[in-house]
Amino acid sequence: MSVDALPASTPTRLLIGGEWIQTATGLNVINPATYGTLAEIGNATVEDGIAAVDSAYEAFQTWSLTPARYRAEILRKAFEIMTAEIEDCARLIALENGKAWSDAMGESLYAAEFFRWFSEEASRVEGGFRYSPSGDKTIITDHRPMGVAYMITPWNFPAAMITRKIAPALAAGCTAVLKPPSETPLTALWIGEILQRAGVPAGVVNIVTTAKSGPISSAILADPRVATLSFTGSTYVGKLLLEQTAQRVLPSSMELGGNAPFLVLEGADVDKAVAGAMVAKMRNGGAACTAANRFYVHESLSAEFTTKFEAALRGLKIGPGIDQSNNLGAMVSENERNKIVELIDQARSEGGTVTEAGNAPTDGAFVAPHLVSGIEHGSILTRTEVFGPVVPIVTVGSTEEAIKMANDTEYGLMSYVFAKDNGEGIHVARKMQSGMVAINRGIASDPAAPFGGMKESGLGREGGFAGIHEFLEKQYFAVEL
Ligand code: NAD
Repeated sequence: MSVDALPASTPTRLLIGGEWIQTATGLNVINPATYGTLAEIGNATVEDGIAAVDSAYEAFQTWSLTPARYRAEILRKAFEIMTAEIEDCARLIALENGKAWSDAMGESLYAAEFFRWFSEEASRVEGGFRYSPSGDKTIITDHRPMGVAYMITPWNFPAAMITRKIAPALAAGCTAVLKPPSETPLTALWIGEILQRAGVPAGVVNIVTTAKSGPISSAILADPRVATLSFTGSTYVGKLLLEQTAQRVLPSSMELGGNAPFLVLEGADVDKAVAGAMVAKMRNGGAACTAANRFYVHESLSAEFTTKFEAALRGLKIGPGIDQSNNLGAMVSENERNKIVELIDQARSEGGTVTEAGNAPTDGAFVAPHLVSGIEHGSILTRTEVFGPVVPIVTVGSTEEAIKMANDTEYGLMSYVFAKDNGEGIHVARKMQSGMVAINRGIASDPAAPFGGMKESGLGREGGFAGIHEFLEKQYFAVEL
């Protein structure tokens, strides 16, 4: 098998109404580690998008009436198939996204878990019954599936951002039209194929891949049969979409950008902080919305932390993700790579001391880890979501100063706090303006936990007990009983 070979079960056409649909024009999917073409896939038009809504709307009429246990068992089956074929998923992610094999495998397992978690949640949705205090009626609260859900996902987690939406939507009784990113559509189509094998009826999940996301999304969002939008991506695009959903007052779940601070406070265990930083910063090569984006380190630990972090970064082997011996893969595209290199140059011109910790191959979208010290809070790297292996370190004099700088951003997705113990960690975490805080550890994501942001990092929560409610409408019945 050639290194670039796709799993045999990888579809390349659109999935509409249970059929794989050929389009008039195609779209090339590129391997960012080689810039070679992996496949040509369907390029959906606005008409294809509306055909997907037609089939999702029709399928909703029956799917929404199925027993929760029936939907749960299909999701459980999807978990089982995905887990049995997990290497195919990791292979697709490593090839089209570029990330290291261990990250691709980690994401694939995490993605499959959403099918298991929401198969369990499907039959656990509670309603309510109570007597009105006035005594004139009873108050019954019910939940019903919203309808057709439009889903837009980013390239940095080609599988998990999809299952985190499709699994709760199907568990709730909704149907889906998914528009994956043009950089990583193959993983999305592969998941569509798994769902079909798991027994998802025709039209319940539809997938449209396209080179032009704007027009197709505008048409779908304007369609009165579409009941909700679930978006994961940048804050910039999220705001554009919110302007459109406002026109129909459409429920909009938004998982947006981040600018996560990583605090190393006085008395913290430096070795533990470095180990946590390697995960928080380097997972996915830094291309995670939760990635540690800026480091605030107490002056008593700053030199030791920087030296040890640099040594750990130098231990990474950089190269194509598909080669399992590499632990830092390619960025998703040449464009993304260039954006990161430009940010490093800007940091240098602002007076930062830049250390390149490793050698990146020159013939793909690779960036070596870079440490940037001697910078102030407010400089470019502390204000911008870098989405790459760049480590800006700011030295702070106190915990209060670190908290103030950490919160000085319009984002509020994730924070990391390394403190002398978990008690102090929790105390500081309560002051962080972010939806999630990892305390003395480098990762927080868990399908059973509520994932989401404060401020401009988003609206709503995915996963946990909250995730299914993004696809359920609450309804109250007043009745004398
Ligand atoms: P992006 O916003 O550029 O694209 C996200 C999706 O929106 C893609 O499918 C893209 O094709 C589509 N899109 C782009 N323009 C559009 C338009 N005008 N109308 C409709 N759809 C459009 O983001 P990206 O570069 O793919 O992903 C990186 C961003 O996603 C980062 O900001 C990251 O923080 C964020 N992200 C957030 C989370 C979270 O859970 N909060 C998770 C992963 C990524």
